[in-house]
Amino acid sequence: MAPPHVALFPCSGIGHLIPFLRLAATVAAHGCMVTVITLHPTVSAAESDQISNFFALHPHIKRLEFQPCPFKKSNFLNEDPFFMQVEAISNSVHILDPILSTLSPPLSAIISDFSVASSISRFASNKSISTYVLVTTSARFFSLMVLLPKLALHKSVGIQENGHLELPGLGRVPVSRIPPPMLDSNQFFSAVISSNIPCLSNVKGILMNTFDGLESESIEALNSGRIIPDLAPVLALGPFESFEVEKAPNLPWLDEQAPESVLFVSFGSRMALPRNQILELRNGLEKSGCKFLWVLKTNKVDKDDKEEVQQVLGESFLDRTKKYGMVIKGWVNQDKILAHPAIGGFISHCGWNSVTEAARLGVPILAWPQHGDQKFNAAVVESAGLGLWVEDWGWGGEKLVAGDDIAVEISKLMLAKDLRARVKEVKNIARQAQEIGGTSEGFLRLLVEELKLQEK
Ligand code: UDP
Repeated sequence: MAPPHVALFPCSGIGHLIPFLRLAATVAAHGCMVTVITLHPTVSAAESDQISNFFALHPHIKRLEFQPCPFKKSNFLNEDPFFMQVEAISNSVHILDPILSTLSPPLSAIISDFSVASSISRFASNKSISTYVLVTTSARFFSLMVLLPKLALHKSVGIQENGHLELPGLGRVPVSRIPPPMLDSNQFFSAVISSNIPCLSNVKGILMNTFDGLESESIEALNSGRIIPDLAPVLALGPFESFEVEKAPNLPWLDEQAPESVLFVSFGSRMALPRNQILELRNGLEKSGCKFLWVLKTNKVDKDDKEEVQQVLGESFLDRTKKYGMVIKGWVNQDKILAHPAIGGFISHCGWNSVTEAARLGVPILAWPQHGDQKFNAAVVESAGLGLWVEDWGWGGEKLVAGDDIAVEISKLMLAKDLRARVKEVKNIARQAQEIGGTSEGFLRLLVEELKLQEK
C-alpha cells in the first residue's frame, strides 16, 4: 500500500514554523509522504534559514513554495508585519487550491495552521481531503480562543466580578490576563480567531504541542465538550522534539561553566523589550550576580535588528560582566542551549515553544509574558510547577520593572531547590508521555493510523 500523502501548512513567524517542521519530521518518520508548504518571501531571515536547514536535513520531505498575494490594507487594525502576512495568506488561500490539486500522489490530508483553517478546510472538504489543525499555543490559551464568542457576550453585558470572568473549563480568570486585542473586534488578532473557530467542529482533529501532565485539565476540558460542544478531538502530541540532529552549541564560554549555574535570557524570535526595560534588565542581571547568557533583540523583525550590543548596553557593562555574562545578538539554537548542562534557569516571555522546550529539557522558568497568549502560558508554567511568575509585572511595556526587582526574582529562581526538583519531575513526565505507551505517543499512533486509513 502506498503511504498517505500529507501536506503541512504553517503560517508566518518562527513560533508557528518550528512546531510545523517538528511535526513534519515526526509524521515523515512514521511512514507518511510529507509536503511542507513554505511561504515566500518570509518575514524574518530566521524563518528562511530554518526552512533551508530543515530541507537540507530532510531531503525526503517535499517543499512547495507559496507566494501569497500582496497585503492589502483591510478594515482591521493590523500593524504587525507577521500578522500582516497572515492576513495576506488568508486572502490568498484560493491560489493554493489549484496548486495542491496537481500534487502527486494526491493529498490524503492537510495539517493547517489555525489562522487559515477555515479557508483550507473549505476547499479540502470539496476534494475529500481530511483537514487537521495544528494549534501552536497552549491548551489553556486555546480554551480561551474557542470561548471568544462568549467573551464578546460577557463584555457587552458586563458580567465581570472584581476584574474576573468565570469561564467554562478555565474557572475564574483575571481579565488582565486576556490579551487586549482579543477583546477588540476591530483588531485582526480577534478577527482571525473568530473566523476560524466555526471550522473546528468539522476538522478531523486538533493537534497540539502539549502533553498530559503539563495541561491535563485543559486537555480533558476541551475533549469532554465542557468548554464548547462539538469540538473535534484534541490530540496532545507534545512536547515536540527538535528536528535537528544532536549538536552542542558552539559556545566555549558556556562549556566552562558549572552545572546549572547559568541563567538563559531570551524573549523569543519576535519580541524586543522597550529600550528602558532592556536597561533595567541589564541592571537586574548585574545586580543579581548570577551568570547569564542573554540573547538580545532590539527589533521585532531580525532583518531590521542592526544595533551592536555595546551601543545598546554600553561598553562598561560588558566589561564589568565579561567573566560571568555573555550577550549574543542574532539567532542561537535555543533548544540546544537549554539542553546544555550549564543552564540552570530561563527568563522567558513564555512563547509556547519556549515553554515546552523548557519542560522537555527540565529548565526552571522565570516567566515574563509580554503579549498575546503569553500570560495564559505563564499561568501553565506556574501551575505545573515549571517556574515562577510575578503577575504584577504586567504586559510588556505596561510598566517599567525595576532592575532591583528583577535581581530579586533571578536569585529566587536560581536558588529554588524545590522548584528545581519539581521541574525535573515535569521533564520525566514529558519523557514518559513520548515513550511507547505514553499519552502523546498514543495520540501520535492514532493520528498516523488515521492518516494511513485516508490513503488514496
Ligand atoms: N528560537 C531559537 N533561537 C532564537 C530565538 C528563538 O531557537 O534565537 C526558537 C525557540 O527555541 C522556539 C521558537 O524559536 O522554538 C520561538 O517560539 P516561541 O513560541 O517560544 O516564541 P515566539 O518567538 O513565537 O514569540
